[in-house]
Formats: sequence, structure tokens, C-alpha cells
Amino acid sequence: MSTVALKDVTKVWPDGTMAVDRVSLEVRDGEFMVLLGPSGCGKSTVLRMIAGLEDPTQGEILLNGEPVLDLPPRDRSIAMVFQDFALYPHMSVADNIGFPLKLSGVEPGPRQERIGAVAGALGIGEVLGRRPSQLSGGQRQRVAMGRAMVRRPGIFLMDEPLSNLDSGLRAELRAEITSMTRELGVTTMYVTHDQAEALTMADRVAIMRRGILQDLGTPTEVYRRPATLYVAAFLGSPRMNLLEAQVYVHLDRYVALNFGEQTLYLPWSDPRSRAVARYHGERIVVGVRAEALTPVTPETPGAVLHGRIRYLEHHGHESLAYLDVGATAIVVDEIAGATPGRQPGSGALKKLVQRLSRPAAEAAPEPGGQVSLLNDPGRHHRKPAELSVRLAPYPAVSHGHPLSVAVQMDSVHFFDERGDRIDVGWR
Ligand code: ADP
Repeated sequence: MSTVALKDVTKVWPDGTMAVDRVSLEVRDGEFMVLLGPSGCGKSTVLRMIAGLEDPTQGEILLNGEPVLDLPPRDRSIAMVFQDFALYPHMSVADNIGFPLKLSGVEPGPRQERIGAVAGALGIGEVLGRRPSQLSGGQRQRVAMGRAMVRRPGIFLMDEPLSNLDSGLRAELRAEITSMTRELGVTTMYVTHDQAEALTMADRVAIMRRGILQDLGTPTEVYRRPATLYVAAFLGSPRMNLLEAQVYVHLDRYVALNFGEQTLYLPWSDPRSRAVARYHGERIVVGVRAEALTPVTPETPGAVLHGRIRYLEHHGHESLAYLDVGATAIVVDEIAGATPGRQPGSGALKKLVQRLSRPAAEAAPEPGGQVSLLNDPGRHHRKPAELSVRLAPYPAVSHGHPLSVAVQMDSVHFFDERGDRIDVGWR
């Protein structure tokens, strides 16, 4: 059995950077837990503390229920795979994989057996005699994983292991990693900044922002019911539409959500209306995913928004229309630069661009995220909303056409000005 637990773990670097801020989480035996968040949010630091490569400033780390802060890395039964893995260029694949066994004195016979088993599981059994320079990028990454797996670790830590690979290979290896770790039943923590990767691979996802754990749950839970505006904005493609709304309560009738030129009504019978009604006269953020919007005729009664198509994107299997509905969108700044499909370049270049564009404010997170999001220009900005709507592959409408969409009100999310979910008690 292998479990990991963090209790109120904080890491402050000597220069005062708060990399991890009172994070508590438990990884169950055999679970595949993904740590997700933008570059610099503290994911690697969490992993490195579990591995014993860094010490927490405060808090407790338990492996299998036992505190391990006094244990050196080699005694933690942990294997770690990094993005920038290094293989020994002068050694064959077999020797690279078997190296940790050789170090711990495993005899050549059993060593070859275990190398063969691991290489078979990873689909690199045919290339055991080759040198790393004679392998493809994907094969090299498999060798690196093989080397980590061969000691049969209780816990597998992976830090962006796929981000240097091209997208086709990444998708292939994603599936391989998840099926392999599940087959082996090994407890895994996997770090990524790629929300699609997190949602497809994880048993549960932990989403971090500026050192703080924002949400934790199965991919379905965090997608369907994000705990914060940040999580709502981060997950899904296209991103959730986040609209600023003014709240007006008409007691016993409805809560009106005014988006500037148009209004939607939350009936009083909706169990969330009481929670939203507390914000009478204030601004909140209303989140609507594209899948909660259905094109309808303009005369359709009920919760309908009317707009004009600003532009269309063709994605082959579907089209996305971006509608001007006269509303204001809230854009979470850390996420704005990482819109799926609009990321700059790939691989190393992307990483570099992300590093360079990392907001300076990120180095000094506010404890507990107590700052109002709607009034903090370092964390969000407003812009005219372009409501993303899913359409058929080659729709009859195009740029400039009017389009009306019905809003599925029970799929709408509400966040307060601090970015916290409003209808917390409601399910
Ligand atoms: P992530 O893995 O999410 O990209 P990291 O855990 O690497 O984030 O970094 C979290 C924060 O800690 C960042 O602000 C980063 O610049 C800072 N940091 C990371 N390593 C060090 C270090 N050795 N010394 C000082 N600051 C560091």
C-alpha cells in the first residue's frame, strides 16, 4: 500500500517567494492524482518536497501514514520522472533501464528479467540494444520511465514528462502512462499545466494557483462544479464564458441577472436563487459553458440571449461562434495567455514565452487569496464579451449574422467578486 498525505504544507524560498501556501491533500493507494496549474504556481515544489529534494518550511508530509521529513529521498520508495530527463548516452537502452538495479546490487540474471518485463510493458522491448541517440523522442521518454519503474517504486512522481513531445506522441503516451500505472496499481502524482491532459488522465485533479490549492476532485466534479472562478476559467475548451452581471432581486418571483443590454432570470423556485439574492445590487460573475448554450429562433421564450456573430472558428467536427451580446467578460489574467488553441508555439518556445509572460505579481501571492478579483487589475481584466457557442461543422450562419441562444440555467455558475463560488451548499 502506498499513500501520500500533505498537511498544511508551506514552502517559502529564501528570497521570500511563497511557492506553496498551506496545502493539504491526500493521495489514495493506487490513485492517479494530477496537480494542475499554470507555470510557477508551485506544482513542482510540491512534488520535490514529497520526493525529499526540498524541505517544507512548515507542515507535515506522510507516506503510508508515516511522517517522512527525516527520511532521505532514497528511503522514500519514490521514483521521479522529469520533463528534461537525461539518459546515459554511452549506455544501451537495457543498461539505462537497469542502472538503478545495478546500483542497488541486483544480480545480472534477475536484472535482465526485470529490464525485459518493464521494456515489454512500455513497448520498447525491440530496442534494448540501441543507444539513446538511435531512438525517437517518444522512445527516449519511455526509457526514462522504464528506468524509474524498474525499482518498483511505491509512488511515482512525474513532472511534466510529456511537455517536450509533439502533440500526437503526447496523446499516445498519455494513454500509455495511465494504463500502465493503473495496471501496476502504483500511486502516481503527475504535474502538468495542460488542463486537457489533467482531465483525461486523472482519477482526481488538484488545481493550484499561486501556491494555494483551489479545488480538488474527480475531473467530472471539478469541471461540473468548479470551486472558484479561476478553476472555472482554467478547465475546458472552449473556456467557460464568464460574464459580469448586476443582481436585482424581485422577492418570491425571480433574481434578475443584468448583463448590460440583456437580462436573464433565475426563478425563485431555483434552489440557488436565495444564495444569489444576497448579492442584490452588486456585481457577480456568471459562468456559462458553450455546451449550456443552444442556438434557437429569436422568438423562443425563456432564458435566451440575442447577439451577433463576431467571428467563427471551424474545427472540423464542429464550429465555434463568438457572439457579441453586449455583455462584459471577466478574463482571469494568468489564464488568458494560455487559451487552448491559441497558445504560442510549442515545446521549449512555449515554455519560454510562458516564463517571460508570467506576471510579476505571481512571485508574491496574497495569503488566502483575500483580494477582490473584480477590483484587482493584476489578476483579471474586463473586455467586451465574446460568448462562445458550439455550432454544427459548417453552419448556415457566418460573421455578422444575428444568433439567439437558449441558456440552460441549471448549468450556470455563480461567483462572487473574490472569485468564490456563491451557491456552495447547493447541489
Ligand atoms: P510550477 O511547477 O508550478 O511551474 P514551481 O514549483 O517550479 O512552479 O515554482 C513555484 C514558485 O517558486 C515560482 O515562483 C518559482 O519561481 C519559485 N521557485 C522555484 N524554485 C525555486 C528556488 N529554488 N528558489 C527560489 N524560488 C524558486
